[in-house]
Amino acid sequence: MPETLKPDICVIGGGSAGLSVAAAAAAFGVPVVLVEADKMGGDCLNTGCVPSKALLAAAKRAALMRTSGAFGVTAQGAAVDFAKVHEHVHRVIAKIAPVDSAERFAGLGVRVIKGHARFKDHWTLAVDDFEIHARRFVVATGSKPALPPIAGLDQGSYLTNETIFSLTALPKHLVVIGGGPIGLELAQAFRRLGSDVTVCEMAQPLAKDDPECAAIVLDQLEREGVDIRCGVKIARVGYATGSVKLTLEAGGGEETIEGSHLLVAAGRQPTTSGLDLEAGGIAYDRSGIAVNKKLKTSNKRVYAIGDVAAGQLRFTHAGNYHAGLVIRNALFRLPVNVNNDVIPWVTYTEPELAQTGLSEAEARKRGIKIRILRWPYHDNDRAQTERETHGHIKVITKMNGKIIGATIVGAQAGELISMWTLAIAQRLNIRAFTGVVVPYPTLSEIGKRAAIDYFTPGLTSPWLRRIIAWLRIFG
Ligand SMILES: Cc1cc2nc3c(=O)[nH]c(=O)nc-3n(C[C@H](O)[C@H](O)[C@H](O)COP(=O)(O)OP(=O)(O)OC[C@H]3O[C@@H](n4cnc5c(N)ncnc54)[C@H](O)[C@@H]3O)c2cc1C
Repeated sequence: MPETLKPDICVIGGGSAGLSVAAAAAAFGVPVVLVEADKMGGDCLNTGCVPSKALLAAAKRAALMRTSGAFGVTAQGAAVDFAKVHEHVHRVIAKIAPVDSAERFAGLGVRVIKGHARFKDHWTLAVDDFEIHARRFVVATGSKPALPPIAGLDQGSYLTNETIFSLTALPKHLVVIGGGPIGLELAQAFRRLGSDVTVCEMAQPLAKDDPECAAIVLDQLEREGVDIRCGVKIARVGYATGSVKLTLEAGGGEETIEGSHLLVAAGRQPTTSGLDLEAGGIAYDRSGIAVNKKLKTSNKRVYAIGDVAAGQLRFTHAGNYHAGLVIRNALFRLPVNVNNDVIPWVTYTEPELAQTGLSEAEARKRGIKIRILRWPYHDNDRAQTERETHGHIKVITKMNGKIIGATIVGAQAGELISMWTLAIAQRLNIRAFTGVVVPYPTLSEIGKRAAIDYFTPGLTSPWLRRIIAWLRIFG
């Protein structure tokens, strides 16, 4: 006989989204069960954000050693011991893992069950020897790497984010299918660590980002030697011992690219299989589990959050945000409305590319009359001292100055974007940035300079021109 559990909340999936719900529910003293089939921490800790950023950090050290001559500091070239880089990546994972562990969650008061969950009916979840009848279920089963339909691709061994961080030897020539953030971050990391890297993208790389800012990232990657092929159609993939061959359709003919390793980073596929969602009365399709603005599924007892929820942004912090909404709605019966316009995202290449609120294209698509305010890194003193002068900020406001979006490409863009997210969430006007005192010399000054730009065009009054000049000098 299975043991029956009757918690208030049952969370399926111990990744960033599910863990956030479980921790918050337990903190409010609510009985909560968490079911995880594999490793606690999910993609972000084990095969996503953490290992990729740790690998990028190692690659950055290698790049800095090669370029420090301009500062008058020379190193004897960068010798990369990839086995030690692998060790570094896994040490970082091990340092963070206790925070996401079953032991820690048990200590918080969460009943953690290891096993594969599936719905038995609209009210019941089955996990091995347990049957769970919860007041609310939260599906947070995440996503997996999607496999593009390319002939021969599944006939040999390719890498994905689930396997690439296990490599202990540096690939000689890494071929990457997919020019999105994951593909390009890893492309830059491996190139800097010494691999030859070719990226094949069927459309435009970084297509979800502002094209003008994305072009600066792509330019830098190409300067570093990453071969980026855009708009290519891969006809087939063939494997031999220690090598992989991609045949591309090119101008009526064919071209081949040979590498030692193949990484597939061509999008994500929500993890809906094996859950028996039909039995639970939960509607879904290839894009994920259908949710409304409250993140509720077609079964009103069940929420879906994080990467598995259709139509949502797929980031760790998006999952955390979803978790907060579910807690407010499920525990406190407060009205909630998911708003993707307040969720920033960052591509952690160098230069970094960060977006918050509406991009220029999105604002125009919505028919909003906008002003675009810019400031380049090369006019910032701190950027000059660091020799990180590539990039700019682009702030999007309504005609009345209300801030609705910002894109930053350049050093520390991921750190700088948060103040703009706050500005959008708090519905601030650009005026708020002109008066604020920003420490000198910092990269944050680019935001203030862009804000001052709002007041410059069409100035006919000498008095106003004088104020702007004053702000530019002393502001
Ligand atoms: C290489 C890479 C780099 C990334 N970098 C960043 C970054 O820098 N910043 C960022 O914000 N995002 C990044 N992401 C995205 C981020 O990792 C995901 O958005 C996030 O991990 C999704 O969290 P989640 O909780 O929805 O799903 P997951 O983390 O995938 O967790 C889902 C969990 O559910 C479990 N599960 C699935 N089915 C069942 C079942 N039937 N029963 C029980 N358990 C089940 C799985 O085992 C898994 O542990 C990156 C992703 C990748 C691949």
